[in-house]
Amino acid sequence: MQSICAICGQRIAPADDSEEHILPGAIGGRRIVRGFLHHGCNHHSGHTWDAALEKQLRPLALHFGVKRQSGRTLRMAITTTAGENFLLNAGGQLEMSRPEIKRTPIPSGETIQVKAGSIAMARDVLEGLKRKYPKVDVESVLAGAQAQRTYAQGVVRIDLEFGGPVSGRSLVKSALALAHDAGLPIERCGDALAYLREADAEPCFGYHYVDDLVDGRPSTTPLHCVAIDANPRTSLILGYVEYFGIHRAVVCLGRGYAGERLKAIYALDPRTGESLDVAVHLDFDAADVRAIYDYERDDAEKRQEAFGAVFGPVLTDHRAAERDRVVRDSLNFAWANCGGVPDQSLSAEQLARLKELFVDQATPWWKHVTGLDEPAARQLALAYINQVVAAAQSTPA
Ligand SMILES: [Zn+2]
Repeated sequence: MQSICAICGQRIAPADDSEEHILPGAIGGRRIVRGFLHHGCNHHSGHTWDAALEKQLRPLALHFGVKRQSGRTLRMAITTTAGENFLLNAGGQLEMSRPEIKRTPIPSGETIQVKAGSIAMARDVLEGLKRKYPKVDVESVLAGAQAQRTYAQGVVRIDLEFGGPVSGRSLVKSALALAHDAGLPIERCGDALAYLREADAEPCFGYHYVDDLVDGRPSTTPLHCVAIDANPRTSLILGYVEYFGIHRAVVCLGRGYAGERLKAIYALDPRTGESLDVAVHLDFDAADVRAIYDYERDDAEKRQEAFGAVFGPVLTDHRAAERDRVVRDSLNFAWANCGGVPDQSLSAEQLARLKELFVDQATPWWKHVTGLDEPAARQLALAYINQVVAAAQSTPA
């Protein structure tokens, strides 16, 4: 039997069949279905509906470090509450979005100081300068470049805005793809087909937060989940789609269902691609569906709670990893520049220099995490290095 395309309703000839991800690959989805979309319809919905969804979810994908099958590195421009511009990298790190060039006149000409987000960015700037000032020795300047971390003064705002008819069609498509994968003929899913095919159809989904429909949820995992339940008792074909443990929607795929009870679920941890074993309860009748569409099962507080459950641990992890990096880099730098000789104990003067260098390097981080001013942050960095040195000195050689 030939399949019917979910989007255009035409038969899919084998040569025109495509592989469609149940959840978009761009947000970490792995499983694919066949006999569901034409090549062209797949391509078009990917560039419109799925792209809109991916854009809305990108801050989350970057913070959680989604593992994608295609290797393209994702970044996004963000502006902090203090008006600074950064690029947000996978893993939640911030990078300067554009280089800063500072010129200072001196008697013999001028000095040019370049601050860039990466060595590659610095090289670009220097090569640009070299065209104007042929004396610039790009390699020797780069060799002498000092790595320093920049931190946002303001708070990074995470835009949780989600929804709308464009990304909503990607959401409904995911539930329908799972139904197709489970062997349910998609022609029975009239509500979903109407929504996917008609521009002015009523959205066949709504947000659901009043209680948690996922059973066995790993509490801090930003899971993706798609489920369907075709139930002859209520005659409804219901679906559920959740992204990153945060965005949760119930879909009504179709009505008038009289076949066997059919349930299917696909859940995964998008950070690793590993499948998760959870259950989803979709015990709703037509009145419930109406209430869900009318935002009666949405709940701002519970939505925030869902966000906090998966996002809190991520921020804690990022902060600990960043502190370890800063301490290690600062210590390496201080040791390399304090005048000490390997296997010889430091003189009092070298030790004082080591501490000073450490404090210079590490203070921006202490400032960043505590919000304290420069002198107070320096005190914290100094207290830290004093502790490290005291611990090293009390260890018998
Ligand atoms: Zn088609």
